[in-house]
Amino acid sequence: CGIVAYVGHREACPVILKGLKRLEYRGYDSAGVALMNGTLNIYKKKGKVAELEAALQDVNTHGHIGMGHTRWATHGEPNDVNAHPHYSTSGNIAIIHNGIIENYASLKKLLLEKGHTFKSDTDSEVFINLIEDIRTNSNCTLPEAVRLALHEVVGAYAIVVLAKDSPNQLVAARKGSPLVVGIGEGEFFLASDATPIIEYTNDVVYLNDYELAVINNGELDIRTKEDVKQTPYVQRLEM
Ligand code: GLU
Repeated sequence: CGIVAYVGHREACPVILKGLKRLEYRGYDSAGVALMNGTLNIYKKKGKVAELEAALQDVNTHGHIGMGHTRWATHGEPNDVNAHPHYSTSGNIAIIHNGIIENYASLKKLLLEKGHTFKSDTDSEVFINLIEDIRTNSNCTLPEAVRLALHEVVGAYAIVVLAKDSPNQLVAARKGSPLVVGIGEGEFFLASDATPIIEYTNDVVYLNDYELAVINNGELDIRTKEDVKQTPYVQRLEM
């Protein structure tokens, strides 16, 4: 339902929580964050963003990269386990996802046969395991594995993926669900609409369907799922 991600000089967690609150108008049943600081930690809860925020009171949330999600359940009941983000089987990568993966059942069957395990009932956890499977078998980079996975999934998605071994990288893609990149000074934002971004920057890029955005070490790279590099069309939002 709602997506916010951040990488830059600010503390990521407060930016993400504030952004999720700005997206509350979209409606949701649970919320969660993935924060990276040496390791990749996920905190998620059924209920309001305020409840997630309360649960984070006793946690060291320090870090400059992370992502958050508000979920509107389509596959699996609203509960803590089905809330996003979701880890892959290894726990090395994590996803937030808006939308529906229509062929998740057949993909899940294949992935189970290959030894992947699932904690939730969501289609989204299938997506991140598919990415992990491609990354392991093709021995490719995470952005490349995400790009290849886009050829396997049927349905609608806006996703952001984080990897434990890439502390300066956000990988995002969309088809059928909106996703906006905000470009600040030495910082980047991703969100399902511009409302969480406008207080930080007016410069945004709206991703097109079947595009992949990779933010890595302060650089934004946008390419199609056919791996054709795109020149980002930066729009200036009126405040
Ligand atoms: N299909 C996913 C789920 O049920 C994502 C739902 C959403 O867009 O929030 O978890």
